[in-house]
Amino acid sequence: MTTTRREFVQRSAAGALALSLGPLAANTSAATRLTPAQLSALRSAVRGTVFTPATKGYSAASQLFNTRFNGIDPPAVVRVRDANDVREVVRWASRFDIPLVGKSGGNAYNGASTSSSAVVVDVGSLSSVSLNSSGVATIGPGALLLGVYATLARRGATIPAGSCPNVALGGHALGGGMGLAGRNLGLALDRIQSIQAVTAAGELRTCSASQNSDLFWALRGGGGSFALVTSMKLRTQKVRSAAWFFARFPKGSRAAALEAFDDLAPGAPAALTSLCTLTSGGATVFGQYFGSEANLRKLIAPLRNIPGASISVGTSSYLSLMTRWAGCAEGASVAQCENIKPQPFDASSIYVAKKLSSAARSAFVSAANTGATLVCDSYGGRINDVSPSATAFVHRNVRFSVQIVSYAPISTARQRVNSARKLIAKYGNGQAYQNYSDLDLSSPLQAYYGANLKRLESIKAQVDPDDRFQLTQGIRS
Ligand SMILES: Cc1cc2nc3c(=O)[nH]c(=O)nc-3n(C[C@H](O)[C@H](O)[C@H](O)COP(=O)(O)OP(=O)(O)OC[C@H]3O[C@@H](n4cnc5c(N)ncnc54)[C@H](O)[C@@H]3O)c2cc1C
Repeated sequence: MTTTRREFVQRSAAGALALSLGPLAANTSAATRLTPAQLSALRSAVRGTVFTPATKGYSAASQLFNTRFNGIDPPAVVRVRDANDVREVVRWASRFDIPLVGKSGGNAYNGASTSSSAVVVDVGSLSSVSLNSSGVATIGPGALLLGVYATLARRGATIPAGSCPNVALGGHALGGGMGLAGRNLGLALDRIQSIQAVTAAGELRTCSASQNSDLFWALRGGGGSFALVTSMKLRTQKVRSAAWFFARFPKGSRAAALEAFDDLAPGAPAALTSLCTLTSGGATVFGQYFGSEANLRKLIAPLRNIPGASISVGTSSYLSLMTRWAGCAEGASVAQCENIKPQPFDASSIYVAKKLSSAARSAFVSAANTGATLVCDSYGGRINDVSPSATAFVHRNVRFSVQIVSYAPISTARQRVNSARKLIAKYGNGQAYQNYSDLDLSSPLQAYYGANLKRLESIKAQVDPDDRFQLTQGIRS
C-alpha cells in the first residue's frame, strides 16, 4: 500500500502554483482594527501572545492551511496558553463588543477560523492527550490527529477520526470527524462524553448529557458558533492492529469500480470502512477492517472481477496503518508528517442516500473528468445507528458522502469543483458535510444541518444572544 487517501486528494495539486485569488464568500469585509486601548486591555488580560498586523509573526499566526484565505487580515490573533486565557478573551470581547472566532488546526475549508472583523482565538496550544484507566481520553482541541493516534496507540487504544495528520481534533470533532474506523466506531463526535467550553458569557462550563445538555447537543455537529472548546473527553477503543486493502483500477473501469463500491461498502459488516476515489485517470477502492485478513479477502472478492484490478491486502499495527493512511513518508516522525505545506484548494460535498443508477455512475465519471477528484466515504454501520436528532450531526441515513475537491490555483479549482458538483448534485439528498464546507453553496446551513437547523438557531439565541461567535457560514443569533 503506497498510495494513501491524502495523496489521492492532493494528487490534483501536482504542479499547482501557489496563487491565491482570495476568498469568495468568506468574511472579507473591510479589515477592523483594534484601538490602542482595546489592544492594551487584551494584552493585559491574557498570558498568551497577541498578534496584530503590526507584530512580528502576525502573517504566520493568521494563516490557514488553505492559502486562498491569505488575504484575510484579522484584527488580532490570540494564541492562548490555557483555558483561563480563553475565558479572559471572551470577557474582553464582551466588554468592547468585538466578535470572535475559534481556531484549532486552521483547516476550515470555508475559512471560518479567520475573519477580517473578528479576533481569532487560537487554541492550538491546548493539545494535550491523556488516557485514564477507564479508557476515556481527555484531549485538547489543538491536538493534531496523527499525534492523538500515536499517543493513544502507545496504550493500545484509539478514537475514530479522519486520516489527515494536520487536522486538529477541535474543528474536526465539532463538525463530525469521519475516517477509516467510522463504520466500526462511529464519528469522532459520537465518542464524546463531555466537553469543556467557554461560553459567550465568559464562563468555563462542562457540557454533557446531564450538564448544559443543549450546548452539548449543538457542539456535536453544529461547529464553533456556540462556545470555545478547551478540552473534550472521548471514549476510546482498544485496538492493536487492523487489516487493510487497497485496489486500483484503470480509467476505463471507473464506473465498474464505483458500482462495486456502492454494492459493497455501505451495507458491509460495520467492521469494514471503505472509500472510493475517482479521478480523470482512474479509480481506487480501499479500506480498513477490524477483523482477519482472510475475512477481508472474502468481503472484497467482487473487486477482483473488475477489469484491470490490482489489489493488495495486509495487516498492520494500528499506528502504522494510521501513518500510512496519513501519507507519511517512510520513517518520518509524527511531527514531520503533521507539517504539511499550506496550499490553495476548493471543495464541496454531497450525500448519496440511494443506490446509484447507471446514469448516475456515468455522471460521476464525467465529474471526475473535469479534473476534480471525487472521494466517496462509506457511511452506514455505527454512524447510521445514531438518530439524526441525537446530536446536531444530521447525516445519519445516507449510503456515502462524496467530497469533490481540487488542489489547484483557486480559480481553476473552483471551476472544476463547481462543474463536477453540477453533474452529480441531483444524485445527492440535498445535504452536504459541514467539515467539507463550500463557499459556493446557495443554502449552506440547510445543507449542513437539515432538520436540526431550527434547534441549532434556537440554542444559539439562548447561549450567544449577542452573536459573539461570528463564523463564515456559522449559525447566527
Ligand atoms: C487535508 C485535509 C484532510 C481532511 N480529511 C478529513 C477526513 O479524513 N475526515 C473528515 O471528517 N474531515 C477531514 N477534513 C476536514 C476537517 O475535518 C475540517 O476542515 C475541520 O473543520 C478542521 O478542523 P481544524 O480544527 O483543523 O480547523 P479550524 O479551521 O481551526 O476549525 C474549523 C472550524 O471549527 C471551529 N473551531 C475550531 N476550533 C474550535 C474550538 N476550540 N472551539 C470552537 N470552535 C472551534 C472554527 O472556528 C472553524 O469554524 C480534512 C481537511 C483537510 C484540510
